[in-house]
Amino acid sequence: EAKSQGRGNCCFFEPGMEARLRVRQVLEADLRSAFVNGEFELFYQPQINIAANEVSGFEALLRWRHPERGMIPPSEFIPVAEDIGLISPLGEWVLMQACNEAAQWPRNLKVAVNLSPLQFRSGTLTQSVGNALATSGLAPDRLELEITESCLLQENEETLSILHQLRRLGIRIALDDFGTGYSSISYLRDFPINKIKIDGSFVRDICSRSDAFVIVQSITSLGAGLMMSTVAEGIETEEQLLKIREAGCTEGQGYYFGRPQPARELVDFLNRAELSSVDLGLSLIPRD
Ligand code: C2E
Ligand code: MG
Ligand code: MG
Ligand code: MG
Repeated sequence: EAKSQGRGNCCFFEPGMEARLRVRQVLEADLRSAFVNGEFELFYQPQINIAANEVSGFEALLRWRHPERGMIPPSEFIPVAEDIGLISPLGEWVLMQACNEAAQWPRNLKVAVNLSPLQFRSGTLTQSVGNALATSGLAPDRLELEITESCLLQENEETLSILHQLRRLGIRIALDDFGTGYSSISYLRDFPINKIKIDGSFVRDICSRSDAFVIVQSITSLGAGLMMSTVAEGIETEEQLLKIREAGCTEGQGYYFGRPQPARELVDFLNRAELSSVDLGLSLIPRD
């Protein structure tokens, strides 16, 4: 312990460091038991096909219902799960759960599942995906995997081979948070990607900043030229939706259309979306 080393020699711990370490240890222990105790749950957020004026699918977003702390967001526990080697089993659970739940939906909509870069390189991803599809009976073209640019940082044979193996299963690949990382255009050329998800930060500024609009427009036309669809993330207002549409995005996602919601609320949501498109804001979109 630092104290026992005597005065003037106790700089190994900053004030509060021990407390932070303790908090972290508790979180790690809680995370391990959360997995065993079934405290994880998937929420689903609708993705809207803007041109066709309909719900095209849902993105599965992981939630942790902590017995004392309540709902903990993924930004807080996924990095920890990655650190302690829990992300592979957790990611496998997410895949299986998402495929099983989507197979029960009343319509053949797509389900999008987020992957951690560690899971991407685990060596067992193709097998896990194949297994989840086989067990659930979900048609492969209904599954979309969302990867981030950090999965593609190593532009090598292995990365390409993982993507090709996944594509051979018949599933689709989306590039998440596009525009925030390195956003190398060569990724779009070199890797078999079906969809670009434009990061919410561009959508946030799209009404107030013409540069944000031009960037969204350019990514969209780049995507169209490469036969990729483009989704705008984080649409919160009617004004943003109209701008996104003007920029030519094929799909949209955000609180404006619907928040992430528990699986059991999904059927209700779909019924509402069908009966009254006003609930979704879809009435704003002129039918082509
Ligand atoms: P993401 O994949 O980019 O997901 C979008 C995030 O934006 C979600 O946060 C969603 O709730 C939020 N969002 C959606 N619409 C809006 C909006 O209109 N405004 C704002 N401000 N936010 C909106 P969430 O659920 O907290 O997830 C955060 C991140 O955690 C995800 O970002 C994803 O990277 C990661 N994540 C979530 N579930 C999983 C999972 O099952 N596995 C892995 N590896 N990562 C996951
Ligand atoms: Mg995502
Ligand atoms: Mg995203
Ligand atoms: Mg994001």
